[in-house]
Amino acid sequence: KAFDFKSFLKRNWLLIATIVSVLLGIGLGVLVREYGSLSQLNKYYFGFPGEILMRMLKLVILPLIISSMVTGVAALDSEVSGKIGLRAVVYYFSTTIIAVILGIVLVMAIKPGVSQTADNIDRTGSTPDVTTVDAMLDLLRNMFPENLVQACFQQYKTKRKEIEPSKPVENTTMIPPVTTVVTTVPQENITKDYKIVGMYSDGINVLGLIIFCLVFGLVIGKMGERGRILVEFFDALNEATMKIVQIIMCYMPVGILFLIAAKIIEVEDWDIFRKLGLYMVTVLSGLAIHSTIFLPLIYFAFVRKNPFTFAWGMAQALVTALMISSSSATLPVTFRCAEENNRIDKRITRFVLPVGATINMDGTALYEAVAAIFIAQLNNYPLDVGQIVTISITATAASIGAAGVPNAGLVTMVIVLTAVGLPANDVTLIVAVDWLLDRFRTMINVLGDAFGAGIVQKLSKKELERMDLTSDVDVVNPF
Ligand code: ASP
Repeated sequence: KAFDFKSFLKRNWLLIATIVSVLLGIGLGVLVREYGSLSQLNKYYFGFPGEILMRMLKLVILPLIISSMVTGVAALDSEVSGKIGLRAVVYYFSTTIIAVILGIVLVMAIKPGVSQTADNIDRTGSTPDVTTVDAMLDLLRNMFPENLVQACFQQYKTKRKEIEPSKPVENTTMIPPVTTVVTTVPQENITKDYKIVGMYSDGINVLGLIIFCLVFGLVIGKMGERGRILVEFFDALNEATMKIVQIIMCYMPVGILFLIAAKIIEVEDWDIFRKLGLYMVTVLSGLAIHSTIFLPLIYFAFVRKNPFTFAWGMAQALVTALMISSSSATLPVTFRCAEENNRIDKRITRFVLPVGATINMDGTALYEAVAAIFIAQLNNYPLDVGQIVTISITATAASIGAAGVPNAGLVTMVIVLTAVGLPANDVTLIVAVDWLLDRFRTMINVLGDAFGAGIVQKLSKKELERMDLTSDVDVVNPF
């Protein structure tokens, strides 16, 4: 059959417009950077249309996550949702571990940090002062929000503050009649003490909401007639939200054009890219291998369909993730692509995608492992096998703990670094290039979630078909 260009255009106009606007945005950014000499204030105005896009996408995250999780779980009986959940979690874990191992192998082979020293690279920004334990506890705390309304806009984030030793560190002994002996306790004998301060930070506590909605959905699903009104309410909410997403997506090309142009104008230090070049090559090639070889192979092994056709169906979401570096804010687009282009059953997407966007981050895990070993190499810090294993475990944990927002992975890096005894402060060595790496790893995070939904759908085919036959609830699949 001859290639029908017209219908191709018609089907993919939004994707084409978005890609064109990325290119135009880069061009515009370079031009203005070279010839424009914008003041700080004008730079801000320049990025404004992009800011509006981000705001619109973030706006729909909340109703989307809540309505999709609640209806997703309520539409399945608890046995089926348990099975689907288990499959999803097994997929999340195994692909994340594969990504971490790939990252470790690459960074040990390429050795991006060996020829340099940490002193050659400027440290930028400040470090978050949390430890591994703090970060793990925060993850658990966020799972159980104490206030549902607050969970819609705040996340728990520990900040430690050192408590000044309050008393002078002196022992005074009076030896009668006149001599005073003062002994000073040596500085290193004073154990530092901390208190926890600044306990909430901005950002939706997606994990907490997901857990609540999961329980809520299960409960109303089980309530029969009485629960039905709630299920229908959330179902309608979901449909309405997706319609709004459709409107927002029409604005996407404009927003993206200015988002990328403003970023290019804003970046101050391009030179750092030369210094950290090999490190970036390591991360990027890892992401490339994972997304073009490993994930497609896994998808094909289970689904037996062309993984690249599937990935092409997700293209709009992938470009969005690349442009906005946030899996959560990309979620509305991920939903649309998965359901409309790849025809994944809504009962699967509603359940698997929000959870995936929050805990399944292959790109982030790969990046964390590479970055930690890179920092060790810079510091000439030898790692034994035990420490490498520690890195792979903590990198996985850190990727689960990272929220789906820009630069989250950089913050949870601290978990990995402190676990193997590297200075947490050294995160500052890689801050300057994180805005770029963040985009690519977010793209892989989103791709991993999508493949996951495809695989879980295939594995759950039997249960879904059985439900289609027996269910009296109107099944939420329009296809
Ligand atoms: N920005 C990433 C995401 O949203 C998280 C990260 O910083 O790695 O998926």
